Amino acid sequence: MIDAIVFMGIQGSGKGTQAKLLAEHTGYQHINIGDLLREQVSLETEIGLEVQAVISRGELVSDDLVFKLVEVSLSKGCSGIVFDGFPRTLAQAEYLGKHYHLIRVYYLDLPESEAMARMQGRRVCSGCGQNYHLQNHPPRIAGQCDACGGSLIVREDDAEAAIARRIKAFYAETYGLKNYFERLGLLRSIPADLAIDKLEQIIRADITTDL
Ligand code: AMP
Repeated sequence: MIDAIVFMGIQGSGKGTQAKLLAEHTGYQHINIGDLLREQVSLETEIGLEVQAVISRGELVSDDLVFKLVEVSLSKGCSGIVFDGFPRTLAQAEYLGKHYHLIRVYYLDLPESEAMARMQGRRVCSGCGQNYHLQNHPPRIAGQCDACGGSLIVREDDAEAAIARRIKAFYAETYGLKNYFERLGLLRSIPADLAIDKLEQIIRADITTDL
């Protein structure tokens, strides 16, 4: 079975950043379901057209579709996976336990008010998808991507009403998984309001013993 590490947390908790850093450090594949879904939407594939409205409303897409995406995105011969934004439902957590060797679940703990503020400042490059934040990670030139010069936009599901729905979906569907993984002895809860490199250090020190 392939090793798996999971990052959980409310939107804006920085789980994407930490998942990417840990994937680089371990050589594991990074799988972010939200990115995969947005890619399908922008390519206007059959899946993309099916999920577009669900995503912009801030609701979760079906478990079966998520399983399909995970399966098709697995790189051949990969030694492990860092999942980011997966699992988000109990059915997804059970699927994970059945098909992967789960090493650890990191829960990045952030108060709801801080999550709201972080998401409101979020911008994404319309060209290459690079993420920015007006306060925490601004581009060198306002409104323009440092990497490709593309224009920075607000993601449709970062609009105020959609943010509120995504936070509601997080507490209704995903938050309970914390206890589920805690009972399995896999959960590490970390305060998410630390600096990026501090968080990275804590996670590396914790995981190194298990790899
Ligand atoms: P994210 O960028 O992780 O906030 O994901 C954006 C959107 O993709 C979410 O609001 C959901 O509509 C969908 N999505 C991402 N991951 C999942 C998942 N594991 N299960 C169901 N829907 C998901």
